[in-house]
Amino acid sequence: MTVYKQPAFDQHEAVHFIHDTASGLKAIIAVHSTALGPAAGGCRMWAYADDDAALHDVLRLSRGMSYKNAMADLPMGGGKAVIIGDAGRDKSSALFAAYGRAVDQLGGQYITAEDVGITVADMSIVAGQTRYVSGLPRDAAGTGAGGDPSPKTARGVFHGIQAAVKSQLGRDDLEGLRIAVQGLGSVGSHLCRNLHQAGARLVVADIRPQAVEWAQAEFAAEVTPVDEVLFADVDVVAPCALGGILNEASIARIQARIVAGGANNQLQHDADGRRLMQRGILYAPDYVINAGGIINVAGEYLGVWSDAQVDEKVQAIGPRLSEIFEQARQAARPPNEIADECARQKLGRSVQH
Ligand code: NAD
Repeated sequence: MTVYKQPAFDQHEAVHFIHDTASGLKAIIAVHSTALGPAAGGCRMWAYADDDAALHDVLRLSRGMSYKNAMADLPMGGGKAVIIGDAGRDKSSALFAAYGRAVDQLGGQYITAEDVGITVADMSIVAGQTRYVSGLPRDAAGTGAGGDPSPKTARGVFHGIQAAVKSQLGRDDLEGLRIAVQGLGSVGSHLCRNLHQAGARLVVADIRPQAVEWAQAEFAAEVTPVDEVLFADVDVVAPCALGGILNEASIARIQARIVAGGANNQLQHDADGRRLMQRGILYAPDYVINAGGIINVAGEYLGVWSDAQVDEKVQAIGPRLSEIFEQARQAARPPNEIADECARQKLGRSVQH
């Protein structure tokens, strides 16, 4: 395995390979940048096909966190961890305790939280070993820790959709607009509620029948098949499920004039941002629009912002995107390229072309 030659290596400050024989823990902790503060990013548990796949994933995600945190103006750098294993089969208290010790040994270089495959309960075990952890359950009074970050992620996506609609359609409200939501999980379900309250008409898809039934009953949402939702006859498509869904083949079939949703790594390749622009579709860079959750996690970890201040920072996602859209329009360039350049400048990294 050649770590330094990995395409996503991009001058990572450190990559830690963890192995704990007693618990069976195998994990990689990647620290992309601490230029703006301790590297913050979640821990993912996934049954990777091999170690190379795990390394590639953690490096890509870690760099993404640097960009996300920089663009959200958080005093935090970017990092990520992966635990190699099946989240449905391989979890144990000993495993998460060993992971917590590994995070602790880094002395605050990396702050962990939950990501795919990890729950707040898992993070509570980690917190028994280290203070460099966030995303813990709220106490019974709903105070203290930040709790589930998904509602804040959804709120940020909602503000981002408003900004995109203003920029692309010249409208100040969402009343009567048709908006397709792909994925009705933690983020998608909260986003639906926000959009419904703003008067949008929802078109939804999920692989879980009970999720679409819920959206039908709750919001009178129209249901569309999972493999058609991206191509629905709507004004906005909001991907809130999988990454890599915007590629040459899918972009050619999109009817919406805006793609703005919460999923991470929506573009299969950076060049797909240009493809969207060439089709006249406005794309909201994913790590800018979906930063609400990390803003909440940062608020919890730093412990210096009130709930109202966290909400203000989440709301600022809208104006930030408006600025990116405007710069992109003036330069006749895709918004993802403008956002990448802006993030790299904030990190003091050379701009890649
Ligand atoms: P989740 O697992 O709660 O929800 C995902 C939903 O997508 C589930 O309901 C699942 O059934 C559905 N789904 C899976 N495959 C699908 C398909 N092919 N078509 C339609 N639906 C499908 O996850 P989440 O926390 O809501 O996160 C959603 C996305 O947002 C992920 O890409 C995640 O990385 C990203 N994200 C989440 C947060 C957060 O705060 N939770 C923050 C930033 C980014």
